[in-house]
Amino acid sequence: MYDTRFYKGDYQERQRQANEDKCVAYVEHHFNSSASPSANYAVVITGANASQTSRNWGRWYAQAVAREFNIAVGGDQGILVGGYNGRGDYNLRFTNMPAILLEPLFASNPQHAEWIKSESGQSRLAQVLTDSIQRFFPNRGLIGLSVGHKYKTSSPNDRGAAIYGGGWEADYAEQVLTKAEAMLKAVAEPQLNRLVRVVQGDQLLWQWVVDEDAEINWDPVRGVLRIGQ
Ligand SMILES: [Zn+2]
Repeated sequence: MYDTRFYKGDYQERQRQANEDKCVAYVEHHFNSSASPSANYAVVITGANASQTSRNWGRWYAQAVAREFNIAVGGDQGILVGGYNGRGDYNLRFTNMPAILLEPLFASNPQHAEWIKSESGQSRLAQVLTDSIQRFFPNRGLIGLSVGHKYKTSSPNDRGAAIYGGGWEADYAEQVLTKAEAMLKAVAEPQLNRLVRVVQGDQLLWQWVVDEDAEINWDPVRGVLRIGQ
């Protein structure tokens, strides 16, 4: 299992504490927002000084969210190194461990807002994040969690962007991270095997270990998933 800790206070203070605790990875959760309600992509911000692991992890996560919800990826194959004109950089650049800032869905997009506010949508986001952590940090350790905007000492009322139809970015980001925390704590052993999973909504119906080299082909007409030749 993984250990987790939520960090609060101003962003630099959170990062300082995560360094002191020797976190193996650090995640800050946001939702994106745009004047255009049709903006429809997943993106991850890394610090300008991000390691290759941070970049690869961020791309893996953004691309997995895009496939999960059938949306586009933003940035450079899913990541914006150094943030939006520097915005986001200071949220991560002082960490000593791989660190990413998640912008998986748009608070301003009506369809995305439905996912953000639903238990099922939150669980699906939490599962993608948990999968990404298992994939990139298989040896486990302490995962640092940070809710964007909320709990800043210098700006205690900040909750980020308004969600279409009501509510605030930071409150829903916190719900996703809380679900991810429960999933991470429930991980019994490292994910060493390649898995095929069948899911419906946020429910796992079936899973099977497959050979690392197996080719997998889905025939949507016959409804057959063929593993191997
Ligand atoms: Zn934000």
